[in-house]
Amino acid sequence: MNLHEYQAKKLLADYGVPIPKGKVTSSPEEAEIIKKEISGKAIIKAQIHSGGRGKSGGVKLISSSEDAYDSAKTILGSNLITYQTGPKGLPVNNVLVEEATNIDKEIYLSVFIDNDLGVPIVITSTQGGVEIEEIAKNSPEKIFKTICSPLVGLSPYKLRDISMSLSIPPSEISHMEKIMGSIYKLFIEKDCTLIEINPLVITSDNKIVAVDAKINIDDDALFRHPDLQELNDPTQQEVLEKRASDFDLSYVKLEGGKIGCMVNGAGLAMATMDITKWAGENPANFLDIGGSASEKKIKEAFKIIDDDPDVEIILVNLFAGIARADVVANGIVKAGKETQSTTPIVVTMRGTNSEQGLSILKNSELDITSVEDLASAAKILKNKLSNTE
Ligand code: GDP
Ligand code: MN
Repeated sequence: MNLHEYQAKKLLADYGVPIPKGKVTSSPEEAEIIKKEISGKAIIKAQIHSGGRGKSGGVKLISSSEDAYDSAKTILGSNLITYQTGPKGLPVNNVLVEEATNIDKEIYLSVFIDNDLGVPIVITSTQGGVEIEEIAKNSPEKIFKTICSPLVGLSPYKLRDISMSLSIPPSEISHMEKIMGSIYKLFIEKDCTLIEINPLVITSDNKIVAVDAKINIDDDALFRHPDLQELNDPTQQEVLEKRASDFDLSYVKLEGGKIGCMVNGAGLAMATMDITKWAGENPANFLDIGGSASEKKIKEAFKIIDDDPDVEIILVNLFAGIARADVVANGIVKAGKETQSTTPIVVTMRGTNSEQGLSILKNSELDITSVEDLASAAKILKNKLSNTE
């Protein structure tokens, strides 16, 4: 689950990390009032689940309360497109109005789990303010990587190494170490999968301030954090992804493809996507129905895939184990009947009750082609798509 910047900053502040003074609002009138409480310049920032806002007009410097009103009016209710959001962008329902920070130095800092090593790592760089991908490309030698022991955490000597690498003012070294220690503590205690502060700023009067903040929480650990669960903002999720998560289905939208994939299990999803590529096509999405999906869940799963406007053919690849093929087939047929779907479906179905499943599909009104294996499915997909082109 992603948090908004203002929510992430509140958490950081709870852990003693300095953040700029400011407030979040959904109205231009209130933005004006918040600016009045800030002496000097302020920054108004669109709250969406994406970075890259600065370059897309989502972060503005304002000097007066009239400015605050005008900027808030323009940004609020708009759809902000950044290099991270995809072409549809994300709706801006809130803005954060904060005192502007006088930046002397911008540092990059992130903590996340390294999936290869299976431990938390801390990435820091003196080249903050630009995206990490850009730093990695243009000046990889400026990236400082610290591997943490899950048992020991971020030891004092490692904190010292990091702060030395950042060439910060000597008076701020111990403060910086304290701040990084707190960020690591927050990462562990709140079951984060990512904390990224870009930029972490040294101000012109040598103070350390987190000017931006991104925090993601591990979905599987959310049950331990009911307070964080409440921070979920469904408006930032794609409509179909939201429907899928309401039904506890894992659905992933992919750009540029025509084939909707319904599978059971993540490994099978990967193999199915390989096969669609092999057929010379790209998947439009994949939906993992999981182990023991009910008919109701399958129905919704089929509708979600079929509602994706990019989908021209649906590939169902089922290896029925605990999930029963007849249940899946009934779910698909009922969904197809309700929505009067005409989308061609290519099916491979093996395992528990697969014969019954296949006969339920064949006896339905749907446009079904059932095949023995994935390779044959690939050939059929190829033929069908070349006929429609
Ligand atoms: P992002 O573009 O979504 O990552 O949003 P950020 O919060 O990182 O803002 C983008 C950039 O705007 C930052 O990298 C800073 O360079 C600049 N910026 C943001 N807040 C301030 C501020 O208070 N003062 C100054 N001088 N620059 C700021
Ligand atoms: Mn940023």
